Amino acid sequence: MKSLQQKIIQNLDGLASAKEMDLLEKSFEFAEKSHSEQKRESGEPFINHPLRVALTISQMKLGINAVIASVLHDVVEDCQIPLSEIKSQFNEEVAFLVSGLTKVNKIKYITDKKEDDAAEKENFRNMILALAKDLRIILIKLADRLDNMKTLWSLDPNKKTKKSLETLEILAPLAYRLGMSDIGAQLEDSAFPYVYPEEYKLTRKIVGKRREELENYLQELIPLLQKKLEENNLNPQKIKFRTKHLYSIWRKLQKEDMDIKIIYDLVAMRIIMPNVEKCYGALGIIHQMWKPVPGRFKDYIALPKPNGYQSLHTAVFAKDGRIVEIQIRTPQMDEEAEWGIAAHWIYGFLKNSKGYKKRKKFSPPKNFYWINQLKDWQKKFYNSKEFLDSLKVDFFKDRIFVLTPKGDIIDLPDGATPIDFAYQIHTEVGDQAAGAKINGKLVPLDYKLQSGEVIEIIIKKRKLPSSSWLEFVKMSETRKKIQDALKGKYLI
Ligand code: MN
Repeated sequence: MKSLQQKIIQNLDGLASAKEMDLLEKSFEFAEKSHSEQKRESGEPFINHPLRVALTISQMKLGINAVIASVLHDVVEDCQIPLSEIKSQFNEEVAFLVSGLTKVNKIKYITDKKEDDAAEKENFRNMILALAKDLRIILIKLADRLDNMKTLWSLDPNKKTKKSLETLEILAPLAYRLGMSDIGAQLEDSAFPYVYPEEYKLTRKIVGKRREELENYLQELIPLLQKKLEENNLNPQKIKFRTKHLYSIWRKLQKEDMDIKIIYDLVAMRIIMPNVEKCYGALGIIHQMWKPVPGRFKDYIALPKPNGYQSLHTAVFAKDGRIVEIQIRTPQMDEEAEWGIAAHWIYGFLKNSKGYKKRKKFSPPKNFYWINQLKDWQKKFYNSKEFLDSLKVDFFKDRIFVLTPKGDIIDLPDGATPIDFAYQIHTEVGDQAAGAKINGKLVPLDYKLQSGEVIEIIIKKRKLPSSSWLEFVKMSETRKKIQDALKGKYLI
């Protein structure tokens, strides 16, 4: 555990002031004391978990408060420490991040439906984003889940399946959407065996020794590539290979009639070149060396994927005529592919941290292509000039997402009341509404609903709406329905 703390401190070296480091040390002590009585279900001391989460977050370089909030992320929920204490012992921002996480954790993904309801899953992801209000909260949530998934074996089977399903259907796609493919892949592979045990076993069997054999083959190609590129004054920074993760192999197998031989990118070669010109240079040399497979070249540098992914992809007939997938990219592109939005922050942070020790300089990417995809659901996303402000995002300024007791998500305008909610469920529910409970407690009918709340409408049969509702309901649709019902009353 001590070594975990040291690693976190190391990662923050040069990025935080002495005063901030003191606050971090204080958070270690505070969390250790708060969790001292607890053990994880795996049997280890509880404190290891928040420290591992903080270690992941410290690698993302999101500023000291995100790391402190990670250390403290479970003390409010699990140790009943009031938020006011976090605020007074640490600072407002840490308290804000911890409270955001607590809110996100309260919403439970309930699904007993077997059919694939894409819209509902999308709504659930949106609700998490709407509740979080700050991207750091999402990132801590993802790091938290990643660690929880690693010790999942210790939970009871029912909990295991639920957590895994939520991981696979909600959190991993969220990670991908934020461009964090590495975390997305880890989340998927951690959940895969619990959600689809048979398919998981089958995939492992199909992949079998083939992966190892392919890796050995690629290992032989590395010196050949290295030599040829150097001869042409194109010194690569690194040549490595990455293995496709099991869950994505499974998805691809389904498309390819379960024929593993068609999955050429099971193991792909990855060449890191110092700049974009040299990426294209290397591509030319490789195509001279080994004939390209027609139709397999993709230029994601000139035309990035919607989430911002950039790389050159090609497939060639390499030594002995075997097909090999090759990806060529710059170090920045490589880092972004792994860390997504966090990588953008690293650039932003380095650019903005003038007072601190200068680290190796990256040039910030000129275009945030990935914003194009995000634009629809968030307005101001990233602003390199206002680093910290840019992390606070109004994902859905004008919408809230609330739940029915069954776990269905209802999307409403901000300021909506239980009456608006009731009419969204059904006109009859609205007409007969007599009371409302939020998270089990009675509230007035003009209460302003908040994202994440569970709403239960109490119904009185053969009751009519009250004209006083017209004064506070938010949606014109609700108003119209109330008026219709009242008109009907006078007709009788
Ligand atoms: Mn946790």
